[in-house]
Amino acid sequence: MVSVPDTAHPLAPAWLATPGDANDLADLVWPASAHRAGDGALVVGGARATDLAERFGTPVLVLDEQDVRDRAARTRAAFDAATARHGGSARVYYAGKAFLTSEVARWMLDAGLNVDVCSRGELETALAAGVPAERIGFHGNNKSAGELERAIGAGIGTIIVDSDIEIERIGAIAERLGACQRVLVRVRSGVHADTHEFLATAHEDQKFGFSLDEAERAVARIRALASTSFVGLHCHIGSQIFGVDGFRESAARVLALHERLLAGGDVPLLNLGGGFGIAYTRADDPAPIEDLADGIVDAVASECAARGIAMPTLAFEPGRSVIGPAGLTVYTVGTTKPVAVEIPDGSAQRLYVAVDGGMSDNVRPALYGAQYSARLASRAGDGAPALVRVVGMHCESGDVVVDHEFLPDDVAPGDLVAVASTGAYSAAMSSNYNHVPRPPVVAVRGGEARVILRGETIDDLLARDTGLHPAHTEGER
Ligand SMILES: *Cc1c(COP(=O)(O)O)cnc(C)c1O
Repeated sequence: MVSVPDTAHPLAPAWLATPGDANDLADLVWPASAHRAGDGALVVGGARATDLAERFGTPVLVLDEQDVRDRAARTRAAFDAATARHGGSARVYYAGKAFLTSEVARWMLDAGLNVDVCSRGELETALAAGVPAERIGFHGNNKSAGELERAIGAGIGTIIVDSDIEIERIGAIAERLGACQRVLVRVRSGVHADTHEFLATAHEDQKFGFSLDEAERAVARIRALASTSFVGLHCHIGSQIFGVDGFRESAARVLALHERLLAGGDVPLLNLGGGFGIAYTRADDPAPIEDLADGIVDAVASECAARGIAMPTLAFEPGRSVIGPAGLTVYTVGTTKPVAVEIPDGSAQRLYVAVDGGMSDNVRPALYGAQYSARLASRAGDGAPALVRVVGMHCESGDVVVDHEFLPDDVAPGDLVAVASTGAYSAAMSSNYNHVPRPPVVAVRGGEARVILRGETIDDLLARDTGLHPAHTEGER
């Protein structure tokens, strides 16, 4: 944790120290290639933020393609190496819900990753991108019969089942299609991890998966059906996790069940989910993926050794850690407004900086109170560091983009502001709230920029309004 210096701003949280230079780009928070040009403009993937804003408008979500590719490849290599040390092997699935387009899916294939999907739309994107069906995993607590039929018909690799009803549904569809569907059983290990802490309970009160007790019966049913084949257990303990303790505890609990299941047949796989944390601010200190892979796999290997069972093939499903840090969003400042805030012995000032996007392009601050980091992107500022809150243009006071940050106090209308680590769960969770068109996503690499997801236009928004377009017919959903 960052210590609180005497000069701390009275409205700043303990983790946010007043920086010496409010133009610096903290390691891990910004994409690997991010730096400032001679004139102070932010450069990422060899492209200047000013050029990107001019060409694509703002807001624009910028993905450092090489950084995504490197993260994917590094993750794969880390788990390959960690399991190989114990004579085993690993599979890495990219959690497509973090952000998925056909290009992103192909980057994952190039890096040797598989792809996880959790809806018809994600499935169709992966298939249309050319991801071989057998390299796709299908998640969700309420997959429809239509979705399952499409997935099984396409020859999907694994379906992660979440309920008794779903087992029967898959069994019937696979039988009708003459298939034998490989399935994993999702369990609630009772371990829920969030950042540095994990909570371990006997039973978890949440919608996903089977309890460890119920799972045994579910596996027996899957094994009894001719049209389903049991592959292994699955457990995902949460997101934005920094240590290995939660994974270790969860793996120990799940392996106890895994061992019991071996009495009834082969259990070739164990999927421990995703959730590796990233640095949204400099207070976050993610360990290198190699250290996490070694720590988790060593824990699984020693648990297996203690039980006298072979280590299964291990699977992991990172989303955020593969794509989150490689993205940033560039906005234009429209207004600034100093606000005096009462504190015990007087008042302190917070500078509100309003930008041309907000909760429609990144809902995480409003939804989870998520923290982010921001910097001037069109230039380096000359002013002293001012405590700011970057806010959006939506009609909600909770429409926060960056809750707590220091920017040079000469930040002004027309400046570009970049928000770091927006590659995961921002475009993916975006909306049209206030009828705001969703921004484009642009991949940058070697100074070249290309749109991988086009921005919406006002025409796109009006096109759905049947009062304006009465001839509209419903397409396939
Ligand atoms: C969300 C999710 C993931 C990915 O989580 P990240 O935090 O993005 O790594 C993996 N597996 C399951 C089942 C999930 O729901």
